[in-house]
Amino acid sequence: MSETASILQLKPGKEKSLLRRHPWVYATAVARVRGRVQSGSTVRVESADGRFLAWAAFSPESAIRARAWTYDEARPVTPALVSERLAQAIARRAPLAARTDAVRLVFGEADGLPGLVVDRYGRQLVVQFLAAGGGAWREHIVRELPRLAGCDDVYERSDAQAREREGLVPREGVIAGAPPPGRIEIVEDEVRYGVDVVGGHKTGFYIDQRDNRRLVARQAAGRRMLNCFCYTGGFTIAALRGGAAAALSVDSSEPALGQARANEAANGLPPSDWRAGNVFEVLKALLEEGRRFDLIVLDPPKFAPSAQHLERAARAYKEINLKALKLLDPGGLLFTFSCSGAMSVDLFQKVVAGAVIDARVDAQLVRRLAAGADHPMLMTHPEGEYLKGLMLVRV
Ligand code: SAH
Repeated sequence: MSETASILQLKPGKEKSLLRRHPWVYATAVARVRGRVQSGSTVRVESADGRFLAWAAFSPESAIRARAWTYDEARPVTPALVSERLAQAIARRAPLAARTDAVRLVFGEADGLPGLVVDRYGRQLVVQFLAAGGGAWREHIVRELPRLAGCDDVYERSDAQAREREGLVPREGVIAGAPPPGRIEIVEDEVRYGVDVVGGHKTGFYIDQRDNRRLVARQAAGRRMLNCFCYTGGFTIAALRGGAAAALSVDSSEPALGQARANEAANGLPPSDWRAGNVFEVLKALLEEGRRFDLIVLDPPKFAPSAQHLERAARAYKEINLKALKLLDPGGLLFTFSCSGAMSVDLFQKVVAGAVIDARVDAQLVRRLAAGADHPMLMTHPEGEYLKGLMLVRV
């Protein structure tokens, strides 16, 4: 393969990041591409002086022009390599089976499979091909997955914005087996949740918040909870099962609230207060009404889709955190999150600290929060860290 391989040659000095095992080659670093390449082709990435750097997946329209598969010249990208990586990714998740049947089996670059996401909900797999790399191996991956994961039903949800940035059209539908039912029931830490893999957000459920749902549940006993951006009620149901005294949950999506109510009933809980509305307005109204809570969760959508949106996003994060802090009684807990990859852990902490100052309260940072173990991050690819959170106590 190496004699006939297409070659992507970098500009002088642009080899440094690949030498540091950072897997992305930006378009601005590319000097030329030699050979016949198409979306997802494997290219041999070379420095300006012709040294081998990586085998990478070529993405002709993306700002991330290539994503590294390996830094080992002797290991070109073959079906066997892809199968081995899938098998290893799945095997690494095995310990989670004791807690849940909703697991992210493959998380893109972190598992050495650029742009590929595979989630498992019971016996249903949901795949996302979000970049040219995994996409070029689509047929092979789709053939291998049922065997490796032990599931027959595979549904595709490659509808994310990331795909558009890669110049790939959105794709959704059944790939293998039976069409998914509207509600697939999963059990996580003995709590039941319904997942709509066709109509839900992402692949249907925020799998990444598993550990934080458990943490909230363990702190919930006797507390009055406010769950902002509740989606299908993950944090609320966990908290009520953990003994929360009451819960008010807010989301702008009626279908999500419908699933949330069904989740509550599926767990034998009496109906709590689910409110359709804009969190920014609801927080304001709750303050005006003089309401108080002892446990607040803020888990908003990505306010900063990219670095250009950071300033506006920071203002939005600050506003909701400021209002939430004012709604907390002393001793109350705030679990606050950002899933904006463009916002660093440091910056998020600064923004929340700014909210504490403006709220004129004292707050302790008790714990830093992150996504679960099935959403790992490559040590050499900090961009992979997107979900971060803080657990604060108002003193
Ligand atoms: N906390 C959820 C996931 C939140 S995803 C969980 O653990 O499952 C973000 C949610 O915010 C989505 O459900 C979306 O419908 C909702 N949303 C987005 N903007 C909103 C706004 N301004 N007010 C209320 N909800 C909003």
